[in-house]
Amino acid sequence: MKTVKTDILILGSGGAGLFAALHAHQHNPNLSITVAVKGLLGKSGCTRMVQGGYNVALDPNDSVERHFMDTIEGGKWLPDQELAWTLVETAIERIRELENELGCFFDRNPDGTIHQKAFAGQTFDRTVHKGDLTGIEIINRLAEQVWARGIHRLEEHRAVEFIKNKTGDAIAGVLMIDIRSGEFVMVQAQAVLLATGGGPTMYKYHTPSGDKTCDGMAMALRAGLALRDMEMVQFHPTGLIAGMDTRITGTIIEEGLRGSGGYLLNGQRERFMHKYDARNERATRDIVSRGMYQEMREGRVGPRGGLYITMAHLDPLMVRKEFKGMVERCADCGFDLVSGLVDVVPTAHYMMGGVEFKVDCTTTLHGLFCAGEDSGGVHGANRLGGNGVANSTVFGGIAGDVMPGWVKAHGAFSEPDKDAMDVAVAACRAPFAKAAGSLTDIREKLYNLMWDDVGIVRDATSLARSAGALDELEAELDATGVSDSNLAFNLTWHDWLNLKNLILVSKSIRYASEVREDSRGAHFRADFPEVRDLENSRFTSVTWNNGGHNGRFDCTTKPVAFTRVKPGETLLKA
Ligand SMILES: Cc1cc2nc3c(=O)[nH]c(=O)nc-3n(C[C@H](O)[C@H](O)[C@H](O)COP(=O)(O)OP(=O)(O)OC[C@H]3O[C@@H](n4cnc5c(N)ncnc54)[C@H](O)[C@@H]3O)c2cc1C
Repeated sequence: MKTVKTDILILGSGGAGLFAALHAHQHNPNLSITVAVKGLLGKSGCTRMVQGGYNVALDPNDSVERHFMDTIEGGKWLPDQELAWTLVETAIERIRELENELGCFFDRNPDGTIHQKAFAGQTFDRTVHKGDLTGIEIINRLAEQVWARGIHRLEEHRAVEFIKNKTGDAIAGVLMIDIRSGEFVMVQAQAVLLATGGGPTMYKYHTPSGDKTCDGMAMALRAGLALRDMEMVQFHPTGLIAGMDTRITGTIIEEGLRGSGGYLLNGQRERFMHKYDARNERATRDIVSRGMYQEMREGRVGPRGGLYITMAHLDPLMVRKEFKGMVERCADCGFDLVSGLVDVVPTAHYMMGGVEFKVDCTTTLHGLFCAGEDSGGVHGANRLGGNGVANSTVFGGIAGDVMPGWVKAHGAFSEPDKDAMDVAVAACRAPFAKAAGSLTDIREKLYNLMWDDVGIVRDATSLARSAGALDELEAELDATGVSDSNLAFNLTWHDWLNLKNLILVSKSIRYASEVREDSRGAHFRADFPEVRDLENSRFTSVTWNNGGHNGRFDCTTKPVAFTRVKPGETLLKA
């Protein structure tokens, strides 16, 4: 098997991965740093897709404390407070870095200050943006800087398994598949950053890019790491409905539309959000998505099975200017965002849950770091719009700051466990031994069962039903083969691997949803509708015991440490 050696291996080239690479290189340009990515560097993942913008307390009338309180209250007191504090405090440094060192142009006010817009669920307009296509600006500037340095790239290389050393107490490297040739590659590293960006693409309607299939979370489960808050899957209220045969369906049109006064209408063309929250369309994403889902369940839908957003009552010039990208995207799908109705549906957008990690991005596996959407604990039960890209860039940068020093103090190349490599290769090659079947059918079944039974509203019955259904689906996948006549760019094989990971992570979402017998933020149990006992908040922690490919799930709960503020208190001065 081909082997590559690098001091620091970074998995993923979103905001987290690229920031980590740049910071690590800045700290020690003599280290060999490699970014390995399933897609192309600078072209894959969700940071590039960021529309609305980046939350940061810049205005003199805003404060880090206010941003922190919005994050904690939005997260329904489940965030790890040290992670949340690090997010809001470091976001200021990071946005200056993006602007002044990396050359991002963000929109400005006539007086030259950075323009900050409203996003739902926030008590201050603090979202920095570049029109409504902010991610392209950020990722292009980051990628240019990575290309300009001597950072190695393994593009179209898919990570499939963490491989530990022979004693199993440290990571030795990552087993990968070179998608271009289909060959396995063992990348040995002293330190590895997991930044593959989660992505709830197991739901019928979803927003993330197709390269994101929870690979990193599945690898973490198989390596015995704990994932926290997995029941917390965020649904964004406004996913486009453009027909079931196009990938555009489910992609979002941005939250700023509601922030700027856009109305949601049901199939009877009536506003309805007042029935669910006094903030109407500007309530947090969980509340708006649930309100929409309720209208849908009660049959008040349009002909395409969803609802509508309209901006027709607002100044058309403002809509055209502020939301140019959204106006064009809607027009591409045959909708008139400026003066008509656009069909929308809640869509699975973001996973608040992920790998348990510390403020310095270390995890419980020696040598493995984590940052970005793969990590859990920053957002708790709900992520504020604009805190996602802040999360990846803040913690990606921190990982890049920490890893070079860690390599110097603790790093060493260790021999990868050959048996574990053989098991992982055999698991990846398993579908070649079976007769080919329809992965499309399996994917559709997964989409529907997660949407219906583990989606916006869950209860004990739906969760119990989905347990059996997920097991059956996994057995069906295991019995379904893939042709190995050509391994180069064998995307059917990669689809099979994607589904394997998505089913495992779906099971972890289901387990955690069953264990949390209350409703919080994105997790709504119809049989336990109350938000209960904030003072004794606990987070779920799921592990895949016995590790490997034949484990079983275990889910416990752990207390949230209120290290800075307790429910009922605030850090804001009266
Ligand atoms: C449409 C859309 C709009 C959004 N708008 C906003 C917004 O306005 N504001 C905000 O704060 N957040 C927004 N978000 C969320 C935000 O994009 C994410 O929170 C954040 O960018 C995630 O960054 P990341 O670096 O963790 O992952 P990503 O940027 O998603 O990068 C993940 C990387 O990992 C790679 N990868 C995946 N699997 C593997 C594997 N097996 N091996 C190797 N590489 C792998 C991918 O190819 C990709 O390069 C939006 C998300 C979407 C989908």
